[in-house]
Amino acid sequence: MKDMELGEIVKAVEGVLVQGNRNKKIKGVSIDSRTIKADELFIAIPGEKFNGHDFIDDAAVNGAAAFIISDEVELPERAAYIVVNDTTEALQQLAAYYRQQIDDLTVIAITGSAGKTTTKDMIAALLASKYKVHKTQGNFNNYYGLPLTLLELQGDEDIAVLEMGMSSLGEISLLTSIALPQIGVITNVGETHLESLGTIENVAQGKSELIAALPEDGIAILNYDNSYVRDMKSVFKGEKIIYYGFNKAVDISASNIRIDNKGTSFLIEYQDDKRDILIDKPGRHNVYNALAAIAVARELAVGWNSIKKALLSVDLSSLRWDVQKKKGGITIINDSYNANPLSMEAAVDAVCESAEDRVILVLGAMLELGSNESRAHLELGKKIADSAVDVLITVGEIAQLIARGAIQGNMKKENIHIFDNNKQAAVLLNNILVGNDTVLVKGSRRNKMEEIVEIIGGQG
Ligand code: ATP
Ligand code: MG
Repeated sequence: MKDMELGEIVKAVEGVLVQGNRNKKIKGVSIDSRTIKADELFIAIPGEKFNGHDFIDDAAVNGAAAFIISDEVELPERAAYIVVNDTTEALQQLAAYYRQQIDDLTVIAITGSAGKTTTKDMIAALLASKYKVHKTQGNFNNYYGLPLTLLELQGDEDIAVLEMGMSSLGEISLLTSIALPQIGVITNVGETHLESLGTIENVAQGKSELIAALPEDGIAILNYDNSYVRDMKSVFKGEKIIYYGFNKAVDISASNIRIDNKGTSFLIEYQDDKRDILIDKPGRHNVYNALAAIAVARELAVGWNSIKKALLSVDLSSLRWDVQKKKGGITIINDSYNANPLSMEAAVDAVCESAEDRVILVLGAMLELGSNESRAHLELGKKIADSAVDVLITVGEIAQLIARGAIQGNMKKENIHIFDNNKQAAVLLNNILVGNDTVLVKGSRRNKMEEIVEIIGGQG
């Protein structure tokens, strides 16, 4: 962050400075007492498990120069502090104020049901060849992570690439009001967070809040092949839409997709250009992510050679399609960061297309689907039965429904294994894996499926 004076912060958050000098320089903002640095402002957020107000002393020990609080708490003697009604709102107000102080910043926002982080990382990698870029770290995409990401800006960046996540209507609107994006990218709309959103139409509406918030001279980058995303044209105030997809009639298209163990290659057509592209990520879903990223990069005048080079070395955030090669030619794909119906389907397709020999799936539950839970797991199982998957291993009670769906779809019972926990699945894997097998490990975050990779990893 650029230095901000305490007085400026008080104004931005509409708080009361109870103690402290208005001219005091603040060098950063943190909500985590463990990682706060000297001369930073600590905002005490009441979270689900912990209340930041209980960690004021720790923050002070680690060098916090000032505090924003809403509860009555004891503060270190002579500490500078601001009182507000709602500290989460104060964080958001401060980020919104700070973002408005940074002239000439282009903000690119990405949302969608799957592929946000990957697309964000690809966009940032492509733009980095020409611009100074700041991006969301990991998955910091919510109403804490996004404001904190903006507050990390040094002020001399050209571009901020921000991931926006949501679990209910109105959240993306709130994030856009803070970040003021000029370019909006929607990856897709699928069955995510149905527990809170109810229907896929509501998911679409929530995601479309990004497109509705773009200014008249903004750019909407939309996946034409997803009908919910295609229809977001209707909420856009501006004129410039770039549709991407696999149909040659769209603005930027991919065709001739070939997947092998080197990566995924395809022909891209954009305006008068036709280019052969190779990405080091597998699966058609990553071709979509790359198309969105290339659309942004071309729009911001990044040259094709830089684009092609950058696409070969995009670092994905951790636990996403992390490919590990083991002795004897066994490949383990650790995609245990998260799972929903859309990303499960994409991952199963990608592993079947790229594997050389047997395909073994180790799957946990897809959570937060509400009343759609059984249907979604059974459908996934049926799809697996119809695919090139050789062995299906499920972990946990909910994921059993995937096995049941596979049995209904006539997958052979001897190729299906049902376990209660990660350890049991790892033990079986250690017994059955042979050369050239490819194993995909995937489930929702709470299942911690990476434990399986850690256990079998030791056998490498
Ligand atoms: P989260 O909601 O957890 O932040 P995300 O939208 O950021 O997820 P990523 O982390 O990019 O998504 O990808 C998660 C997984 O989803 C990938 O490893 C892959 O299996 C799948 N995936 C990635 N891109 C797509 C896509 N465009 N369409 C469908 N599935 C995808
Ligand atoms: Mg993400």
